[in-house]
Amino acid sequence: MNAVVRGLPRIETLSQHQQRGMDCVWCGITLTPATAVDLGPRPVKRLDYVTEWYPRACATHVGQVEYEELLAHCADCPTCLETGCEDGARLRRAAREARR
Ligand SMILES: [Zn+2]
Ligand SMILES: [Zn+2]
Repeated sequence: MNAVVRGLPRIETLSQHQQRGMDCVWCGITLTPATAVDLGPRPVKRLDYVTEWYPRACATHVGQVEYEELLAHCADCPTCLETGCEDGARLRRAAREARR
């Protein structure tokens, strides 16, 4: 399962397990293959170089965050109201799937 969430907690605030994708980045619950959602690689700045980390979260949180991001997007996207836009459609789809 994959998700397209943009906003994440800052990596410095997370535990080792959360940074390694073993625990949900939002609630810290231990993930299993059945509940884990990959949030995709994210760039992270170390002292003098940029690397990537692979955050994961539980399906419950991903659904919530996607829904919030959809609301935030629609609030300031004029295109969504008129003709609909790519981002809005993608978020709506994700929110719908999360509620199933
Ligand atoms: Zn969670
Ligand atoms: Zn939009």
